[in-house]
Amino acid sequence: MTQPTGTNRIGELTRQLLDRGYEQATRQTLNAIGASVGTGLINQRLAELEAEAARLEAAGQPLRPDNPVLRALLADLDTEMGRIAQRVDAAAADVQRRGIDAAARLTRELAIPGVTDEQLRLIGVQWNVPDPEAVNQLVGYVNSSAWADELAGLPQQVLETVRNQAVRGLVEGWNPLTTARMIRQMAQGVPARQANTLMRTVQLQAYRDAAVIQRVANQDILTEQIRIAALDARTCMACVALHGTRLPIDERINDHHSGRCTSISVVRGRPREVQTGEEWFSQLPEERQRAQMGDSAFELWKGGRIELRDFVQPYTDPVFGEMVREASLKGILGRNMDEE
Ligand SMILES: [Zn+2]
Repeated sequence: MTQPTGTNRIGELTRQLLDRGYEQATRQTLNAIGASVGTGLINQRLAELEAEAARLEAAGQPLRPDNPVLRALLADLDTEMGRIAQRVDAAAADVQRRGIDAAARLTRELAIPGVTDEQLRLIGVQWNVPDPEAVNQLVGYVNSSAWADELAGLPQQVLETVRNQAVRGLVEGWNPLTTARMIRQMAQGVPARQANTLMRTVQLQAYRDAAVIQRVANQDILTEQIRIAALDARTCMACVALHGTRLPIDERINDHHSGRCTSISVVRGRPREVQTGEEWFSQLPEERQRAQMGDSAFELWKGGRIELRDFVQPYTDPVFGEMVREASLKGILGRNMDEE
């Protein structure tokens, strides 16, 4: 049997620890959320809204945001979202724990892929492993008051998203049946999507915080870290721009919600080269660049009016602290004008 190569092994470990671990920890919760808005009372309210929309259509009237049948749906959805927030909270500790556990193995493997602890000992190198309980004490998202606030605000966020569809339908003069259909999609899709984003971000942030602790425990042998993005068609331009950046080992890799960027550590005496995100992006076919960047941004970048690093927008999240997201083109142009 052949030994898996370093890169394959890292990809496999990432899928196993970060992706599969997450699925295992959240599958039940996400299924329960899907069922709670797909059957029972919410589903009944949606059917009533569709009957109301048919009545309005026959009468030649629009579906208004203050329609009583819509308000009955929103009231029950509000109650249901409170239960959904409780489910997310109940799952979050396990999700956070899996992120922390993944950091212990991944940080080690990403730093020194394909070398066993035994082989390291032979060359006089020891990889230190901090006590998992101690790390768990330090990563406390799910116990923070900001997390509790975020969960308390979840029903309102979802309700607003659903209500906005009614407003949009009215403004754009949609047929009431179209508006009701859009509301159904939102009421049934958004709760699970929001829950998924929150839990995924807890896992990934816990992973990154714990990775800082793992690296610092090995500061005798680590010199720096290099930020790594997935670099596929879905990678946002901020993460493309930051790929390959070299950072001190005690710095956390900041990303956006559900962001999957990580880093590889550089071991003293074992230099590592990583192509920068800019180099990677520059050699893609133009069609692909245009698709990934968006038409208008592509034209401006091609014409030298904006640079990849302009897409990097740092911000602070109340729960997760310092994060980075893709700046909108409008934001970039506004910022560049301020500087001129
Ligand atoms: Zn990104």
